[in-house]
Amino acid sequence: MASDCIFCKIAAGEIPAKKAYEDEHLFAFHDIDPKAPTHVLVIPRQHIASLAHASDKDAATLSQLLNAVPAIAAQLGLTNGFRTVINTGADGGQTVSHLHLHILGGRAMHWPPG
Ligand code: AMP
Ligand code: ZN
Repeated sequence: MASDCIFCKIAAGEIPAKKAYEDEHLFAFHDIDPKAPTHVLVIPRQHIASLAHASDKDAATLSQLLNAVPAIAAQLGLTNGFRTVINTGADGGQTVSHLHLHILGGRAMHWPPG
């Protein structure tokens, strides 16, 4: 755990969040500033600063992150589809330096994103 990381603290239960899912490896919670009717963030419990910081040793974690999405989306009722997003670095629009996957749904998404 990175002691100064807000998402590490959320996964550890030290900062409150509206939980959507959790298991041994992952924690998912509703975004505090939702960009769609449903907006959930899925994070590995392990601190990885961004997708650009991930490497071969994180292969299992990355697999768990993506693999969990269908069940979380189904649990959220997103039967008509959803958008998954991983913002990376400054140009990617990443504002929290702990790898997170956005699940957005409940409305039709636009393409291309801004
Ligand atoms: P990104 O811009 O991809 O780094 O996404 C970070 C997301 O985290 C944003 O959508 C924020 O609204 C969200 N966020 C920041 N702090 C919190 C928090 N304490 N609880 C829930 N979501 C948060
Ligand atoms: Zn962290």
